[in-house]
Amino acid sequence: MLLISKIALYTVVLLLVCAQAGNTLAGGDNAAVQSPKNVILIIGDGMDDHQISIARNYLVGARGRLSLDSMAHRSVVQVLTVDNAQPEKAVYVADSANSASAIASGSVTSRARIATSAGTDKDLPTLVELASAAGFRTGVVTTASVTDATPAAFYAHTNLRYCENPSMMKDALAYGRVPVDCSQDLIVNGGLGSIAEQLLSSDLDLAFGGGQKHFAMLGEGSSKSLLVQARESGFELLDSKAQLDKQYPNKKMLGLFARSTLPVVLRGQGGRGAEAAVPKQNGVSLPEAMPCENNPKFADTPSLKLMTEAALAHLSRESQAGFFLMVESASIDKQSHLRNACGSIGEVAQLNEALDSALLFAETHENTLIIVTADHGQAAQLIPSVSLYSNPDLAIYSPGKLFRIITPEGAVMAVNYATNDFVSEEHTGVNVPLFTNGVGKNILPSMLTQPDLFGVMSDYLGLDRQ
Ligand SMILES: [Zn+2]
Repeated sequence: MLLISKIALYTVVLLLVCAQAGNTLAGGDNAAVQSPKNVILIIGDGMDDHQISIARNYLVGARGRLSLDSMAHRSVVQVLTVDNAQPEKAVYVADSANSASAIASGSVTSRARIATSAGTDKDLPTLVELASAAGFRTGVVTTASVTDATPAAFYAHTNLRYCENPSMMKDALAYGRVPVDCSQDLIVNGGLGSIAEQLLSSDLDLAFGGGQKHFAMLGEGSSKSLLVQARESGFELLDSKAQLDKQYPNKKMLGLFARSTLPVVLRGQGGRGAEAAVPKQNGVSLPEAMPCENNPKFADTPSLKLMTEAALAHLSRESQAGFFLMVESASIDKQSHLRNACGSIGEVAQLNEALDSALLFAETHENTLIIVTADHGQAAQLIPSVSLYSNPDLAIYSPGKLFRIITPEGAVMAVNYATNDFVSEEHTGVNVPLFTNGVGKNILPSMLTQPDLFGVMSDYLGLDRQ
């Protein structure tokens, strides 16, 4: 009896193994073996928990939930930065260039670097390069210029993020005051050229965002503009929202939808920003509270959701291996630098809507790892709209600038900016949140570093990291 049972069991197992092999060899219905693997990395630039809480309160109310909040798993990510002159020395606050470089390459580097090593200026292989070499399609989508620090760190290598186009390579000033020298990256010196030129020579299948101004000029040592060079090297050029509805099979795509950063969705009433509280004889006069309003400049700008959906359609079309896509909501950060809380809120909304599209895509593409995270913290802090210590006889107020918002649920939310008195606020050094879908639940630890995140994504795609 025992022998007969064992034979029966072996027969069943053998039949199951044969059925499995048959499906695999015949390309049958065993989707788990056959289907492509995709990674969608969504970066909220500067999106720490303050920015998420501020946006949640405004968009869905204090008791509401964003799509972000319903992800299967949540971790925290340590942001690591080193000093350029002494790479063994820690720096506690990052910029978007070094933090995106850490996520894209797995190496900690110094501020302003685009996938190059601190001190030694060596090129660090990136996820886009490794994934392309392994047969995956790749793309970057952003609300900033496609040459801005976050997307650039995934496909380019320079010692300074400011070298976005041929005119910024040397004897140039960033922000009108910071000297720029990328002369070692000039093509004439054996380098890879500006970030815009590196995008054209990269393996990217698509790049959507702003930044027309960086491609409107002549290439280094060339009589042709970078736009002409882009077309000649196989890119379909897009500059309007309507063009995103069409399909461009077998083409690379370069969509540039604004001269520089894309306009944001929301702004303060009448364009008002944060203002200082004014002490008076009895207490303090706070800036008048206001609702957010639609930014008229956004008008025909493609939303991050629309660009993400077009990218997903293009990258997944007849895809064999799968793809790596980086999606950035850039102006959570940029509007926080400018002390515009409504601008940042609208950009978190854009990220959340793009995430909805990614989650919908993953419902029908099972091996799709979705990760949402931030590159660093930002200045905006959610503080009491009325101080706990308020007293009519005392002037108690924040020394920074206040943006007081009337929320749709009828309360007042006070957002404070107090990292400096300069025209631009600073980043902060807090660890940042990470959210992932069910695919990432068991491969992302509850706490990791940004270089660890590179490891998780490259291991998921089976990339050779050497
Ligand atoms: Zn920033």
